[in-house]
Amino acid sequence: MASDDTSDTEQYQDKQKYEFRKVIEELKDYHGSGTQLVTIYVPPDRLISDVVAHVTQEHSEASNIKSKDTRTNVQDALKSIKDRLKYYDTKPPENGMVLFSGAVDSGGGQTEMITRVLESPPQPIESFRYHCDSEFLTEPLAEMLTDKGLFGLIVLDRRESNVGWLRGKRVEPVKSASSLVPGKQRKGGQSAQRFARLRLEAIDNFYQEVAGMANELFVPKRHEMNGILVGGPSPTKDEFLDGDYLHHELQDMVLGKFDVAYTDESGLSDLVDSASEVLAEHEILEDKQVMEEFFEQLHDGEKATYGFEPTRENLIMGAVDQLLISEDLRKDVVTYECSNGHEEREYLDRPEDTPEHTCSRCGETVSAGEREDAIDHLMEIADQRGTDTVFVSTDFEKGEQLLNAFGGVAGLLRYSTGV
Ligand SMILES: [Zn+2]
Repeated sequence: MASDDTSDTEQYQDKQKYEFRKVIEELKDYHGSGTQLVTIYVPPDRLISDVVAHVTQEHSEASNIKSKDTRTNVQDALKSIKDRLKYYDTKPPENGMVLFSGAVDSGGGQTEMITRVLESPPQPIESFRYHCDSEFLTEPLAEMLTDKGLFGLIVLDRRESNVGWLRGKRVEPVKSASSLVPGKQRKGGQSAQRFARLRLEAIDNFYQEVAGMANELFVPKRHEMNGILVGGPSPTKDEFLDGDYLHHELQDMVLGKFDVAYTDESGLSDLVDSASEVLAEHEILEDKQVMEEFFEQLHDGEKATYGFEPTRENLIMGAVDQLLISEDLRKDVVTYECSNGHEEREYLDRPEDTPEHTCSRCGETVSAGEREDAIDHLMEIADQRGTDTVFVSTDFEKGEQLLNAFGGVAGLLRYSTGV
């Protein structure tokens, strides 16, 4: 059951990401009758007192809002946010936080006051944002959740080069260099041969400089990186890669080379655009591998299970090595216990009323028991048993099958259990 720190962290992040996704989905569906839903993104280095001051300021400016309903709603939302901020000392939690508050339509002309705080998103919040609209601002947070991976970026031609990072969806330029490679026109008096030699030397020097820049940035991070993308015009990028200028471990991480017109900082973004297919493929690589293994075990081995109850049973036995959950699964689980102590569960779609249950063993009718999120329920057991959870995308065929043909839940087993 011992698991190393890395997988503990990953496990924590998976769970946290799932919680975030749930809250975002909930928030996305809310509407306000006026411009009255407040969202505040707080970066990690922003003092809570500054945020409170900003909220106070907005509260006083809101008194100018003409519609009485909207005015009251905005001020109520701001007051609720201010109340929440009292729970924090000087600074927000790691990576910052996002506050949502407002009176949302709850049907039939009624409104309901909603306040949610999301702490420590998967990536640091970059800048302070105050947003008041008829909807909550969830996109920046949603983008962080789809973010996967760290990639090294290199763009170059014979004149200049930029290197940087792709973190999730964010491009970060880090270093640049420009070359002293002379143009193709030689000056009068120079022999053609000598000119050509000097030019080749200058090009070689420049490639070495670019490689040095990339090595310095990428080599220390190579174990965290998912790959390297290289862009530029032909034949520069080809020469650069074929010439083995990069550190050999980095050279093996190159996922592809791409035609890019610009090699300034904007070229890094062009590179990411050009590589979108490769990146999308990479994003579901782990999911694909795990589903391949699942199908292999299903057909030729015995170390696979699927469906809620069998998977749950295997989880409780500690037999599940990896718990596979479809990213698009939305189910609740209700636990029923009859007076004879028989415990049974039902898995329900959301939203759906909790029905009565007939105990399959004694026929007793049991009224609704405890209802909770099915994924939370399974992940909690997985946590206690040292089982890793993998959320599987539905963006490929076998991932879709997990959701539609296997109930959205499966497990790769440590040993065959016959369940
Ligand atoms: Zn019973």
